[in-house]
Amino acid sequence: MHRIGDDCDKCGFCVLECPVDAIEEGPAVYRIVPEKCVECGACVPVCPLGVIVERAGPDARRDAP
Ligand code: SF4
Ligand code: SF4
Repeated sequence: MHRIGDDCDKCGFCVLECPVDAIEEGPAVYRIVPEKCVECGACVPVCPLGVIVERAGPDARRDAP
């Protein structure tokens, strides 16, 4: 699953890139709504700070073969 790190400066570039509007402004930084994200990875390269990462989590198991 994709996540946004704490160093996000809320530039909003990732929001424009997400095809399913899964990124929203949170209280401190932007956040990815896991229920909406389709794991396309399009947001990762547009982040100037590189704080969007793919991380294994509870949902990662659904992608296992
Ligand atoms: S991985 Fe794709 S669907 Fe998920 S937040 Fe990034 S751009 Fe949106
Ligand atoms: S592109 Fe990166 S720094 Fe900009 S709002 Fe998205 S996660 Fe935050």
